[in-house]
Amino acid sequence: MSKPYLSLSLDMDNQWSYMKIHGEKGWEEYPSYLDIFVPHVLKVLDELDLKITFFIVGQDAAFEKNHKYLKQIADAGHDIGNHSFKHETWLHLYTKEEMKTEIDTAHDIITEVTGKAPNGFRGPGFSWSNTLLEVLAEKGYAYDASTLPTVIGPLARLYYFSTSNLSKEEKEDRKEIFGKFSDGFRKLKPYYWNLKKGRKLLELPVTTMPVFRIPFHLSYLLYISNISIHLMMLYLNIAIFLCKMTKTEPSFLLHPLDLIGGDQITSLAFFPGMNISSDRKVFIFNKVMKKLAKHFTLVPMDEHVNAIQKIHKLTLIKT
Ligand SMILES: [Zn+2]
Repeated sequence: MSKPYLSLSLDMDNQWSYMKIHGEKGWEEYPSYLDIFVPHVLKVLDELDLKITFFIVGQDAAFEKNHKYLKQIADAGHDIGNHSFKHETWLHLYTKEEMKTEIDTAHDIITEVTGKAPNGFRGPGFSWSNTLLEVLAEKGYAYDASTLPTVIGPLARLYYFSTSNLSKEEKEDRKEIFGKFSDGFRKLKPYYWNLKKGRKLLELPVTTMPVFRIPFHLSYLLYISNISIHLMMLYLNIAIFLCKMTKTEPSFLLHPLDLIGGDQITSLAFFPGMNISSDRKVFIFNKVMKKLAKHFTLVPMDEHVNAIQKIHKLTLIKT
């Protein structure tokens, strides 16, 4: 019997979006580390013979300095997704008009620069709304991947606020980053949103540990590996076991800073977790991927979505 699927995706947050989210000055000049990160990540993925989905931010595609690197991603055979234009974690507050402009502008520029048209979306900071789902469905996108069904979203937010330089207003704007508490109880397995005019949109949630609803994407594993690699592997093994028990095909999330350290991205050396070297991060990544590959077929999102559309009978959920 063939192994169940596990889709891999990386949210291509650039240096400026980390600074913007964190309230660091200077983000308005859109500093970029794509020249360092892209060659690095492509090499790491190539060595493991992995193809993944990169969710790209439209604003990055709008700068000529980034074109070469974004094109390299697509040319290396990776799948391309839409990660909004401005990367604002309060995307869920946008009106329909604002949402349409945001999605369309990002879509067009990403398509032009990479040569591949995205057909899936992930919101910045897991932000999403019914308006977003309607806009994506009207546009003919195949899926949304913005939900993170975890009950510890509010906790993650508290930690993140405590390490940032955000003002009260900025915190207010970001108050739903890492998801709403009610998102914690949403389905883990893919399902269809039942939208207006009989439209449907596939939802592929970022998978959290079945039953416990705690995240196990790479940032969390890396954090635990700092305490002990054995503990990290135990945690991962429990997650894999529960996914298989509940027949959940995982969507596994990566971030740039999971794979590269402050030794290479010196401008972000002060960030949490950036004291870990690139070598160590790549070592952990390889270990995690090899473990996952024993149990699952690792694919990009588009392949996972195609398989779901063909085989699975899914629940319809009203928004
Ligand atoms: Zn992001």
